[in-house]
Amino acid sequence: MERTADSKTSLRIAIQKSGRLTDKTIELLKGIGLRFDDYKRNLMVECRNFDVELLLIRDDDIPEYVQDGVCDLGFVGANVTAETGANVTVLRDLDYGVCRLSLAARKEGDIQTTEDFQGKTVATSYPKLTRDYFEENDVEAQIVTISGAVEIAPRLEVADAICDLVSTGNTLKANGLQELDTILESETQLIQTNKTLSEGKKQLIDKFLQRMDGHQQAERSRYIMMNAPESSVPKIKDIIPSLNSPTVMPLADNNMVAIHTVIPIDEFWIVMEKLKKEGATGIVILPIESMIL
Ligand code: ATP
Ligand code: ZN
Repeated sequence: MERTADSKTSLRIAIQKSGRLTDKTIELLKGIGLRFDDYKRNLMVECRNFDVELLLIRDDDIPEYVQDGVCDLGFVGANVTAETGANVTVLRDLDYGVCRLSLAARKEGDIQTTEDFQGKTVATSYPKLTRDYFEENDVEAQIVTISGAVEIAPRLEVADAICDLVSTGNTLKANGLQELDTILESETQLIQTNKTLSEGKKQLIDKFLQRMDGHQQAERSRYIMMNAPESSVPKIKDIIPSLNSPTVMPLADNNMVAIHTVIPIDEFWIVMEKLKKEGATGIVILPIESMIL
């Protein structure tokens, strides 16, 4: 892409430098056609074919960088944005980095309900969200802020309980803890600054979002091709939850047609069984690179 004289037209996007969100975010950016050089060794990488530069930082810093307009966009967990209380706009919820912020205490210990936290100490890396939760529930608990390995705090007797991110729950189990209550459900989000943006940047964001939406829609869809008796076409049209009406083409065999269409992946198996019942054969499923609706 040609660069304009105004070098500031480049969109600056913050992503996690190294952690659970990094690979998925890079994969998504590559998936929408962005090309950039070695991001692992640099703090800032310029995209070769889109007016974007990536800033690679700790995830904790992303919401504030976006809030302050240092970056225009950021990919970060909802948990981090909520904890920092940053003033940003959430543009998209993305279905990776899914986790929850939960309270947990020793299995079969004396903390079983929210009220049992009264007078107890809770270790967490999320002091704001944890404090808010206890305040809302009228429980006085003492918060101990620690930055990592929160799950071993009860064993070290640093705290009676913890408030930490959970995905499978295996880490809790391995440490003899049971999950008691969820404070926040979280996933990765694309956030945008609330600072005023130039027209050029707004246009770039629109273009970026269009590519992202097309890519995500494509990931959730499959292209399906099949042959079927012509007489089954009305029934097949009813079965297929198609975005548009399917393409129906005649085949050399007079009574047969080829049908091509796009279906949502989560309905794939149900649709497939119904199609076979209507006499569809030679069903072929293909992944889709992107979709412009
Ligand atoms: P950084 O060095 O960037 O500060 P970090 O150690 O704080 O990294 P990671 O452990 O890489 O962060 O987690 C990044 C994000 O991944 C979390 O903020 C959360 O949104 C998401 N996540 C998903 N599942 C989990 C999980 N089981 N534990 C922790 N984070 C998770
Ligand atoms: Zn972090």
